[in-house]
Amino acid sequence: MQSGTCVIKNARIVLPESVISNGFLEIVDGRIARISAGEYSTSNTELIFDAQKATLTPGFIDLHVHGGNGGTFNSIDPAEHNLARKFHLKNGTTSMLATTHTTEFSSLLAILKSLSTSSRSNENGSKVLGIHTEGPFISEYKPGAHVVAQLRAGSLLEIDKVISAADDFITMVTVAPEIPGGLDLIKYLKSKNIISAIGHTNATYAQAVAGIKAGARSTTHLFNAMSALSHRDPGAVGAILDSDEIFAELILDGIHIDEAIFRIALKSKGINRINLITDATYLAGFPDGDYGSLPDRAVTKTGGKIVVAGTDTLAGSALDMNMVYKNAAKFAQLSQPELSKITSLNAARILGKESDIGSIEVGKLADLVLLDTEFSACATMVEGQWKHVSAGWEEALSR
Ligand SMILES: [Zn+2]
Ligand SMILES: [Zn+2]
Repeated sequence: MQSGTCVIKNARIVLPESVISNGFLEIVDGRIARISAGEYSTSNTELIFDAQKATLTPGFIDLHVHGGNGGTFNSIDPAEHNLARKFHLKNGTTSMLATTHTTEFSSLLAILKSLSTSSRSNENGSKVLGIHTEGPFISEYKPGAHVVAQLRAGSLLEIDKVISAADDFITMVTVAPEIPGGLDLIKYLKSKNIISAIGHTNATYAQAVAGIKAGARSTTHLFNAMSALSHRDPGAVGAILDSDEIFAELILDGIHIDEAIFRIALKSKGINRINLITDATYLAGFPDGDYGSLPDRAVTKTGGKIVVAGTDTLAGSALDMNMVYKNAAKFAQLSQPELSKITSLNAARILGKESDIGSIEVGKLADLVLLDTEFSACATMVEGQWKHVSAGWEEALSR
């Protein structure tokens, strides 16, 4: 955290319910101390940054991200974790849940051990607030790109191994509620203050409702790898859209779901229950091509689309949160405060950290992104410190 006082002046500022067209932010010891419209006049502050009329918006929070720029979180190598975190920081993500995918169980435990250590040490990327384990406690009928032979029933013994391998840094677990032991797993996770996200599930409507009642707080990529909505068989999708409580997570690349589905989900869940994520793999930021040496891991990237090689099965995305933000603005008529809810504040609410992060309000951490008129991230601030500044902005944002 940056100690001392700094000011960001000449900024458009996106607040939770409105926008200040020209104003300034005062930041003390990494937290927002004052927000005001108008020109900044007093000059006894040493550190004054000029936003040059660009827009300050809350830093993006990504609760489902597997990697980026060649680095994957599904590795025991901290250098890979750091590559991914740097890539996403550059694209405006200030906080994330580093997300693992199903792998052989003992390898997963080794990965979690390494990931929990690197997550708490590196200072040069997006903050990792915890780990999200996607698999192995998911349905063999909706595996997506996960390897079916590596999936497990819901087991309290095994989840304890997962939790202790990550040294209590597990924050979210994707669970299919209908698998054997699935509901007990959700209840157990809730008792440990860990979020269950319903996903990779073939649940009936009733089974998904039972999962929500057992305590599931969020979903893993609503619509993708999930029993679909049908008019006499509403499935897991129907249960999630029908619930006032559970949050709905969406991958917004225009490939995983049609843009009309995004608008329908918005109408159904409301702006306070949608959370956009990347589900980015290590190929985010990489050129097109064939990647991966193991047969069950080989993937092909073509444009923004990544599939298991030789199939049409989607294997994560090539997104970053800045692209997600731009897509949301393109696909639906949303104000900037609304865009910030679905890229930042709702994620903070899912985590129960909305008193610290997720919006620009006095008392919260100064986790911010500066956006130009095209909504491209020019600079990313974490706890009062510019951690990434794009070319052309160094002078205005240096001391
Ligand atoms: Zn998935
Ligand atoms: Zn994923």
